[in-house]
Amino acid sequence: MMVDSLIQLFADPGVSPSLVYDAQTGGNQAIVSFAKTIKIPYASPTIGIHLFASSERRSQSLMQILGVSKQEADNLLGIQYGSKGVLAIQHFPTQTIWARLDEPAFGSGSPGWSPGKIIAHEIFHLWQHQLVKEQWHQQLDPAWLQEGSAEYFAFSVGIAANLFTDGQVTQYCNWAIGENGAQLPRLEEMERYDDFDRTNNRLNGAVYCMLYIYFKKLLRDNPSGIKTYYQLRSQGILWREAFEKSFGTGPELDLS
Ligand SMILES: [Zn+2]
Repeated sequence: MMVDSLIQLFADPGVSPSLVYDAQTGGNQAIVSFAKTIKIPYASPTIGIHLFASSERRSQSLMQILGVSKQEADNLLGIQYGSKGVLAIQHFPTQTIWARLDEPAFGSGSPGWSPGKIIAHEIFHLWQHQLVKEQWHQQLDPAWLQEGSAEYFAFSVGIAANLFTDGQVTQYCNWAIGENGAQLPRLEEMERYDDFDRTNNRLNGAVYCMLYIYFKKLLRDNPSGIKTYYQLRSQGILWREAFEKSFGTGPELDLS
């Protein structure tokens, strides 16, 4: 399969070889999964993945490639939230992902912060944009749906690529959700969020886990749901109708 031709990975000096390997593996497996599991192949020019050893280097690159100011670059990256700002970001027009993934504070080795999983998550966003870009201006997918489907895809890719096991994901999510307990929003509250990365940055790991579990349940009985959903969306069907047709149910975010 011609996989490597789609992913072009650039790493700063100082980024560890194992991190590069993990990111490349996740990226390649993501492309395979679009064709095999989701069954809508990734049709795009090459995806550029840039791995940086520091936040500063990442901002500089963003300024160069997008031609934005330091402040715009920092805003884009969520740096105003401190060192725990956004780890990776995608830019649809240039099909590029900027990532700083070697942040020890995030607990390396856990599936939630696996470089391959994070790259797969961002590649899924690029793919969402490809399919829904015309409709995007008229009616966005709600943030929980964008993030939940990306997170479901990303964990599935990591498992398929043997970066971690299904059991490790369950263990990680139980830990993340348990750790934050009472502070976590209920699923139905998430319907109101329009930007997860900024409004709920600190709890993101646990919140994304809740969405992952939701999508896992949804897709267990309906494995082709994501494929159908994005096919309908690419035809201009509005999200709620597309959701009901694809999953045979409304978005019942309250699972309790
Ligand atoms: Zn995301």
